Amino acid sequence: MPKLLFNKVFCFAVIALVICLGVSLAAADDVDDGFGPARSVESRYFTIYYSPQLDPLVLVQQLGINAAERILAGEQKPPALGNGYSLAEALDTLFLRVCDILDMQLYSYRGNIKICVDQAQLAGIYRKIFDKDLGDAKSFYIYSFNTVYVAASSFRQGIVGHEIGHAIINHYFVVQPSIKVQEVLAGYVEYQLRRQAAN
Ligand SMILES: [Zn+2]
Repeated sequence: MPKLLFNKVFCFAVIALVICLGVSLAAADDVDDGFGPARSVESRYFTIYYSPQLDPLVLVQQLGINAAERILAGEQKPPALGNGYSLAEALDTLFLRVCDILDMQLYSYRGNIKICVDQAQLAGIYRKIFDKDLGDAKSFYIYSFNTVYVAASSFRQGIVGHEIGHAIINHYFVVQPSIKVQEVLAGYVEYQLRRQAAN
């Protein structure tokens, strides 16, 4: 790639290293994450849990998946809801976009996305699992839970796509790349999604 673009990507990856935690941390499968009561919806690639106080239609709007992105991701079907895409459809589209950006196709992938009501709930879950402060991180992915955690206020294409990128990278490679390489790749996904959203 051109040097200028690489520099931009690299810078973004460094920022991502600061804001994205948890990918390298091990957590036992049987640990309760303390998410609490949740609504859930099944999509093709995810089981999506969200706090009962949250409105899924607002979450979809925040994600900002449009018809052009659906088509780019190979989805030709009209929205299931008359007035727009469902949360399940929007996240499946984002998954396919991230696969495309990484050029890693995972046809049989399934994972979880948990959307917290606020940053405090997200930090509480991180504290419960790792007994550490979350700091400024807006989201994290835990490989052993195969779960993306994100606060509703951070439920945006770039941030969620970054974490879905971690999930795809972790499931694509038999031998895991180094944490730095994983972060560069996830940062590249975030950069591309933000760049396309800005156009
Ligand atoms: Zn990351």
